[in-house]
Amino acid sequence: LQLIETKLNNVVNKNFPIVKFLNYKNRKRILVTGGAGFVGSHLVDRLMLAGHEVIVVDNFFTGRKRNVEHWIGHENFEMVHHDVVRPLYVEVDEIYHLASPASPPHYMLNPVKTIKTNTLGTINMLGLAKRVGARVLIASTSEVYGDPEEHPQSETYWGHVNPIGPRACYDEGKRVAETLSYAYQRQENIAVRVARIFNTYGPRMHMNDGRVVSNFILQALQNHSITIYGDGKQTRSFQYVSDLVDGLIALMASNYTQPMNIGNPVEHTIEEFAKIIKDLVGGTSQIVELQAVEDDPQRRKPDISRAKKYLNWEPKISLAEGLRKTIAYFVKELQRSKNSHID
Ligand code: NAD
Ligand code: UDP
Ligand code: UDP
Repeated sequence: LQLIETKLNNVVNKNFPIVKFLNYKNRKRILVTGGAGFVGSHLVDRLMLAGHEVIVVDNFFTGRKRNVEHWIGHENFEMVHHDVVRPLYVEVDEIYHLASPASPPHYMLNPVKTIKTNTLGTINMLGLAKRVGARVLIASTSEVYGDPEEHPQSETYWGHVNPIGPRACYDEGKRVAETLSYAYQRQENIAVRVARIFNTYGPRMHMNDGRVVSNFILQALQNHSITIYGDGKQTRSFQYVSDLVDGLIALMASNYTQPMNIGNPVEHTIEEFAKIIKDLVGGTSQIVELQAVEDDPQRRKPDISRAKKYLNWEPKISLAEGLRKTIAYFVKELQRSKNSHID
């Protein structure tokens, strides 16, 4: 098998990175919804490199073909332009359900659509899983804890969400997605995995994403003001994308069915974070305070003892290392956008 693998990689796949050819028994057909997005595309890379067949379903609201273009034409890869709010009929063994805008400016742009994607879209993926007997992993979020009154947040905390505020379309949408997952598990015996993902950053974040990491890096690189919303005393804990992908794959493979925090517990205030990025990038940016945003969670840090215990998982990439890689990516992106007007 190894010989065939080497030969095929040399001959057939010379345009692609090395791909393993799994035994038929181990090879899976895997659907990744939102696979053209930031997290999804890194997950797709990992699954393709492991030799699985991957179907990406995306409506390209915030995702880009560019994120997965290196796989186009590969016999194990398929990309479908489709909105998960509509039913989907494919035959797969596993579903990673990531389709949903994730950054506050994007999910607030069309709150009704955000709710539909997270509720109707999730029903469709659970219905699909039921028909084909697939295992489903739902990309939930630390936002289910809202503006938390418990710190750090462990999975047993029920959360503190404003159900009618500007973030509710996303927070409550994800809470319903979780509720649906466990209802399908109870009623239909569907194998579900629920990842509560904490703030994640890395290459392929969209330039106009609006999240703090991309904003601060782009501002620092262009010597623009670094914009802190509020007094900057609110905290976040940032995880590098490869750590998240490790966690998602480990969770899918595990027998653990309750929600699982996947995040990096190293916590910083946003003010500290602005200084860290300014120091790493250099330049002459001023750090300025703008008006606070409504319902902004004041503290966020995952308790990851569950992931350590059941997945033997913990983040490996330090903030400095992850930021350096992300800064290098945005340097290239800025260069690219100067050379072309195409997004
Ligand atoms: P992203 O915006 O880069 O990716 C989301 C993808 O979903 C995009 O490709 C988008 O086009 C697609 N999509 C959106 N609505 C769709 C629909 N109706 N039908 C089909 N495709 C649709 O965001 P991301 O950071 O990669 O987030 C991926 C998932 O992880 C999301 O579910 C998000 O809620 C979750 N998450 C991310 C973070 C984070 O910090 N990145 C934190 C918590 C949870
Ligand atoms: N569904 C889908 N693909 C499938 C099977 C179902 O998209 O392969 C959708 C279908 O449109 C349905 C939803 O999933 O609305 C829920 O399916 P379920 O079987 O739970 O419900 P029902 O079809 O009985 O309403
Ligand atoms: N934030 C900021 N300046 C920015 C973007 C975000 O100060 O340009 C703050 C935001 O108010 C929040 C934190 O950074 O307190 C993280 O915001 P982000 O949108 O990245 O993710 P969230 O965790 O709020 O979903």
